Amino acid sequence: MPDGDSIRCDACPVLCYIKPGRAGACDRYGNRDGQLVRLDPHVVLDRTVARGDSVVPFLEGEREWDGNVVSGPSTFVTAIGAGTTYPDYKPAPFIISSAVEGVDMVTVVTEGIFSYCGVKLKIDTDRYLGSETNTVRAQGEPVGHVTTSEYGSQMLSLGGVRHLTGGTRHEGTVTCETLLNLCNGKAVELSIDNGATVTVQAGKPPAVDGVQEERMRVGCGSATIGMFAKQWHNKVDEVVVVDDHITGVLSQHQAGKLLGIPETGIKMKGRRSTPGRYFQVAEPGTAWGGTNIQDPLSILKDFNPKVAWPGLRLLMVSTTGEHYAYYELDEALHPVQKELPGTLTESVARIKENCEPALCTVLFMGGAGGSLRAGVTENPVRLTHSVRDALTRLTCGGAPVYVWPGGGITFMVDVTHMPENAFGYVPTPALVAPIEFTLKLSDYASLGGYLDQVRSLDSILSDESRRHVMATDNNPWLLSSTKRHGGR
Ligand code: SF4
Repeated sequence: MPDGDSIRCDACPVLCYIKPGRAGACDRYGNRDGQLVRLDPHVVLDRTVARGDSVVPFLEGEREWDGNVVSGPSTFVTAIGAGTTYPDYKPAPFIISSAVEGVDMVTVVTEGIFSYCGVKLKIDTDRYLGSETNTVRAQGEPVGHVTTSEYGSQMLSLGGVRHLTGGTRHEGTVTCETLLNLCNGKAVELSIDNGATVTVQAGKPPAVDGVQEERMRVGCGSATIGMFAKQWHNKVDEVVVVDDHITGVLSQHQAGKLLGIPETGIKMKGRRSTPGRYFQVAEPGTAWGGTNIQDPLSILKDFNPKVAWPGLRLLMVSTTGEHYAYYELDEALHPVQKELPGTLTESVARIKENCEPALCTVLFMGGAGGSLRAGVTENPVRLTHSVRDALTRLTCGGAPVYVWPGGGITFMVDVTHMPENAFGYVPTPALVAPIEFTLKLSDYASLGGYLDQVRSLDSILSDESRRHVMATDNNPWLLSSTKRHGGR
């Protein structure tokens, strides 16, 4: 029961009663001297012309454009720390006006509560993490699944409303915590049923079963043959590029044929797809080329004695150049391992050199539908249409987003483009993510926006408690004409 000094927070459905000097269940709101306050500082982004330059002063109306790529206010008010309105028929916490290139603009900011949200996780590795659809766990709880792998990367889909709300309370809590940590740039350990344990962190290399991945592959085995065939020509008789998906064989491959490389009588295990390209030479794993093999010869059958010859030179290499071995056939046409000749060292090094650093990419994906839109306009569907028509630019903590086509406002954002600790949570459980809508004031009026709530940027900046963060160089500046950067 609330005591007399408690105040009720109405920023989410939990409706905490908060005692003086204490915080609510999410640690986002507190009771300070009887006032409900947002405890984290509200973040504004400052634009600089280039790294190390001073902040560009606010553009006065009569001042000439200074030749910078964009003009307009040098401060953008993000939704980080802005607070939430719930239920959102109330106007968003901040609706800020600004003049951009002579056009009156408005930015509506709010911290959205996302029950429908998750993370798409790209892990640059060929090592086998688990089969598609296998369950991904954090702290033993199911938080997602393995989804379709991409070129050189394994993909996980985490979170979503089913894990947040459809299982046990503990599953929902752990899912929310996992998403929160990943989105805020923290390292998370995930284990995959019948697969690997992987430690992931946005913008950092993954560690698979405790081994840090360094490089993603240069391409599939077939592509690697195509890329390096010329460098192997006349230096070796046969090359096999071992790959879990498509293993390449130089003499049979189109690239080898074009160079006139003669047949070697090599015979491969697995299923032949097209000349010089083999599927399923081994089981997936964390060894050579994302397979389970430690001995590359295990994917070869006996050489054809009618074609092969003693002394035939064979290079076997993985798609990252991490594994390689050199052999010559003896009199019985059995491969005998020898030291890699100096003439081939460079080609193996070149494969490694062409492999990009392995990283983890965390994309937050959420649906800004439902009542959140009612904090922007009294006619929410018009906001959806406006985003779709690129009249309204959507950003997440000041970072550009990709808005999915189709219904609703479903967007994705790279969390490394956002200021740190931009995300929060509420114990319903759901994630709290910043979201900003920027559009022309005239368009805002026609959407049915809360014009009586619009306030000037200057009025916001006079409050010194706001935290100023330098905008990152790799994001387009937000307060420029919508025409230049589009609305998405
Ligand atoms: S969980 Fe946080 S936002 Fe929700 S009512 Fe409690 S203090 Fe307010």
